[in-house]
Amino acid sequence: MTMRPDEIVAILRRQIQELDSELKIESEGTVLTVGDGIARIYGLDQAMAGELLEFPQETYGMVLNLEEDNIGAVILGPYEHIKEGDLVRRTGRIVQVPVGEELIGRVVNPLGQPIDGKGPINAKSYRPIESQAPGVIDRRGVHQPLQTGLKSIDSMIPIGRGQRELIIGDRQTGKTAIAVDTILNQHDQNVICIYVAIGQKASTVAGVVETLHRRGAMDYTIVVSATASEPAPLLYIAPYAGCAMGEEFMYKGKDVLIIYDDLSKHAAAYREMSLLLRRPPGREAFPGDVFYIHSRLLERAAKLKDELGGGSMTALPIIETQAGDISAYIPTNVISITDGQIYLESDLFYAGIRPAISVGRSVSRVGGAAQVKAMRQVAGTLRLDLSQYRELAAFAQFGSDLDRVTQAKLARGERMYEVLKQEQYKPMSVPEQVVSLYAAVNGYIDSIAVGDVVRFERELLTYMQREHPEILTAIAEQKEITSEVKGKLDQAISAFKHTFVS
Ligand code: ATP
Ligand code: MG
Repeated sequence: MTMRPDEIVAILRRQIQELDSELKIESEGTVLTVGDGIARIYGLDQAMAGELLEFPQETYGMVLNLEEDNIGAVILGPYEHIKEGDLVRRTGRIVQVPVGEELIGRVVNPLGQPIDGKGPINAKSYRPIESQAPGVIDRRGVHQPLQTGLKSIDSMIPIGRGQRELIIGDRQTGKTAIAVDTILNQHDQNVICIYVAIGQKASTVAGVVETLHRRGAMDYTIVVSATASEPAPLLYIAPYAGCAMGEEFMYKGKDVLIIYDDLSKHAAAYREMSLLLRRPPGREAFPGDVFYIHSRLLERAAKLKDELGGGSMTALPIIETQAGDISAYIPTNVISITDGQIYLESDLFYAGIRPAISVGRSVSRVGGAAQVKAMRQVAGTLRLDLSQYRELAAFAQFGSDLDRVTQAKLARGERMYEVLKQEQYKPMSVPEQVVSLYAAVNGYIDSIAVGDVVRFERELLTYMQREHPEILTAIAEQKEITSEVKGKLDQAISAFKHTFVS
């Protein structure tokens, strides 16, 4: 670092003046160098890591490097007006954001300031963006389902409240779509949703907000946005800010769903900051603690035990892969931190299988315990059937003669994939999903032409709602397929099948 002589003189003079004073807490310092959103500051010996600093013109910064003779801070926001020699004040506070009910329905930046033009947010409380995750004793195992409304996820990769499930896939494979559909499906589930957009195009974020508005989901959702054009430090703190907002509700006994879209861009923002702060680069030029920034974030998602109110925070982080490579540094890190992953494949997406979930590579390690019984009953062998189908389909390509059993398996598998297709913005309730899957696994679609399966499913559900709403209600209330319901279901589906014109 180079210093001008007059700076050195000023510093020396100050040190001489302060020589005889005893312990004195410095609350003001001066900017030594500034550039790329990073400032080196002299004189704030007592500053804490993560402390909020005040620069001129109401610009804030956050302390990240505590070095021997200076501190390194990132500037949260525009930094062009900050000059060498500017005064910097300590605030004595760790970076915090407003939290509480007042934020629901709003779009805010990572500092919790509104960016939706709907006036100020009069939040009554604040929380530090970084906080300790609940310990083992404070937690309880995942035991309540978080319904995504997507057939393939709720049946085969069930998610429980308090779980961390990664959504991973290449670009444009429907990652955000899954997250948005899951938010839409919470309209009657009493779950507060937080969508954290990190490093995306402002137009994409505006599109998501517009969708949530139009479908009434902003009534229970907070959007935290740090778009691609914003400085890296803002992108870096965005998920922690969203997490703090979620924690406020979780510790009050409520259920929260938080989406981090996406953590690949978060890691890239952290790399940018770290390199500018001259921290040593490691694998793929990421700093050594890039694992820790994601693990301490995702550990804050939890299901609390009943004595602590029983609240939960379910986290759905998103990771973008390059050409399906899940063994790159950041994907492997986040896979190892989460309780499972939903793996999306471009090939499936382009083949029209949407959501493009790769059944073989997706898992949910804890959600099974939380799955609704009715769902478990219909989904029992689904995963196995589909994987057998894929194996057989590979064989069948060689055109050898196939026996009847194999042919039947192939026919079933092909139709199963059709049933699992689902349009965007059409999340389904548990009874609807159960009816569709029940019809499929019990052979009612085997004789339907593949091209007609989607229409069969749609018409079957309309028929059930019109003619047999009591069956749907029974499934919703009892949460299982009792022998009585099973009998009625068989009757109703057979009756419908007679009327179905292919
Ligand atoms: P990015 O990498 O750009 O963030 P992404 O993986 O988040 O992309 P989306 O933006 O969710 O992908 O979806 C990509 C496109 O696919 C969008 O145009 C979306 O409308 C469409 N799409 C997603 N899911 C479905 C679906 N189930 N049915 C039909 N179209 C879908
Ligand atoms: Mg996306």
